[in-house]
Amino acid sequence: MAGIFSFKCSSCDEIHEGSPSFACRAPDPYLEQSKETQEAGRLTDDLCWYEDEDGMHYFIRVCLEIPILGVTEPFIWGVWVSLSKANYDRYVETYDSPDTTVQYFGWFCNYLGYYKNTYALKTQVHPRAENNRPFIELEETDHPLSIDFHHGISIQRAQEIAEKIMHR
Ligand SMILES: [Zn+2]
Repeated sequence: MAGIFSFKCSSCDEIHEGSPSFACRAPDPYLEQSKETQEAGRLTDDLCWYEDEDGMHYFIRVCLEIPILGVTEPFIWGVWVSLSKANYDRYVETYDSPDTTVQYFGWFCNYLGYYKNTYALKTQVHPRAENNRPFIELEETDHPLSIDFHHGISIQRAQEIAEKIMHR
């Protein structure tokens, strides 16, 4: 039976309740830019772009939802993916009334602490209605994050990841 996730933290001894949710505040490539480049670009809660010597780079904030086996709510990572200019423009144009019938190709643009290199994994972005951030589907590969996404994680593993991220 599916339940609510909670656990006694081995790191701080508190009870942490609710399925874990962690957010990356910006795409990692943006954070790697100089202050000038960052300031000439744009970063909001949902959108980001900047220009460097290779040209323009466009990103949107999305949700990566990893099922926790036996628990209703997934483990949620708030992450960024890069889109082509055409897809980014379309996403921005339909931001207030998203087209939920389309998918956008996106490159995963964050390094998630717990996993080995997650940068540039291939994803499909699915817009959602009613102000919910899009969710992404990871390409099925043997990358640990892809395996967790497609097969779900145990409660024990969810706890292990959450403790590591919360108290790093
Ligand atoms: Zn704790």
